Amino acid sequence: MANVFGKKWEGLALFSYEGWLKKEYRISEALLDLAREVEEEIRPLFSTIETTAKVNHARVLHAFLEEGVADYHFNATTGYGYGDLGRTTLEHLYSRVFGAEAALVRTAITSGSQALALCFFGVLRPGDELLILGEMYPTLQSIAGLKGAAPGSLKEWGVSCRQAGLDSDPAEVLRPNTRAVFLQRAAGYSHGSSLGIPVMAELMARFKRANPGLVFIVDNCYGEFVEMLEPTHVEADLVAGSLIKNPGGGLAPAGGYVVGKRALVEQVAARLTAPGLGAQLGPDPGGYRLLFQGLYLAPLMVAEALKTAVFAARLFERLGFTVFPPYQASRTDIVQAIDLGSPQRLLAFCRGLQRVSPVDSRVVPEPAYLPGYGGEVLMAAGTFVQGASLELSADAPWEPPYTAFLQGGLSYFYGQIGVLGAAQELLSAGLLPVSLS
Ligand SMILES: *Cc1c(COP(=O)(O)O)cnc(C)c1O
Repeated sequence: MANVFGKKWEGLALFSYEGWLKKEYRISEALLDLAREVEEEIRPLFSTIETTAKVNHARVLHAFLEEGVADYHFNATTGYGYGDLGRTTLEHLYSRVFGAEAALVRTAITSGSQALALCFFGVLRPGDELLILGEMYPTLQSIAGLKGAAPGSLKEWGVSCRQAGLDSDPAEVLRPNTRAVFLQRAAGYSHGSSLGIPVMAELMARFKRANPGLVFIVDNCYGEFVEMLEPTHVEADLVAGSLIKNPGGGLAPAGGYVVGKRALVEQVAARLTAPGLGAQLGPDPGGYRLLFQGLYLAPLMVAEALKTAVFAARLFERLGFTVFPPYQASRTDIVQAIDLGSPQRLLAFCRGLQRVSPVDSRVVPEPAYLPGYGGEVLMAAGTFVQGASLELSADAPWEPPYTAFLQGGLSYFYGQIGVLGAAQELLSAGLLPVSLS
């Protein structure tokens, strides 16, 4: 295209994405060639992601229409927050979207870990047992008392926690005092498969045949809107997650949610506020618009994050790394694990990703202690909302095999630049296992 913008812009590839990447982002020609090939390879997978996203858009919008969401629902409330219409409408909306009887959706719930702690302490009583099937996220292990000696853990309260495999036979693992069963939908910090809804449904049905009174508590972090159904659409009794992950749609400034059976959600609400007070209190002085709008956008944002994850999986596989899940796998969460294999490579990966983040691009990530994780963690998180991981980010326990857990990307195109930034940093530092030419 002729340069019509005069001398100042000469040489700047204003109309070319690759021109920008080459000139302003310093992505090498060889890496761009590879990225082009990868895009061709992964494009067919995008239609599956979009099919799911369309169904989730339809479900979310329908809930807005059924609840008659109006602009006065966005207003802030103060004090006790009695009769807060915004809060109740938002919670009805979540119930509908998740196919649940009741919901708690609060910025006063700081994180996914806190939402799950509320579920555990709401349901379990001294002498009860919590059976953990499969993986449990590190912060939740601290809550359970399986790791370290966090004051106030379930263990300290006389609730025992036991871990068993996902393929366990209910007749063998259930005890008379097993009150609740915990399941984690995402793979978390492991290379175990995440639990898709059909598999989860079958597992829960099998255990409930053995004991219909069991309460299934599902950690839904990173799983929301990845499939067409949520755990509450099948047998789950209580499901919890974080609003700075999937359901906050990248807009929620803070918060967590719990959805599930009404009587159980009431027990959780009694832990959140106080026994006898429950869900009827709790103002939000900041107002609710971002929580409504975030939920509205969540199916799209999750689809963009999934496309970013697929691109990263294939690109890093082509660059000689072991990735999990592989790019063609059907996904049930938004996390992409990339085994970098050495501290130098992990540092370079996170440095490269951070450098092309919209916020804190001048920060250089270093491993640091993080509460609840039981060790040092390295993070790249150039996000608008602190620690938000539906925004493009990576975190990595600072230990072999030096795996980066990459997730998010509110736009596939920004996500792609982030992934290429990370790859370029490895290339520039001479740390790639394959030679690009
Ligand atoms: C993020 C996450 C949590 C909770 O983390 P918070 O930082 O407390 O929100 C729990 N389980 C899984 C699988 C997660 O990914």
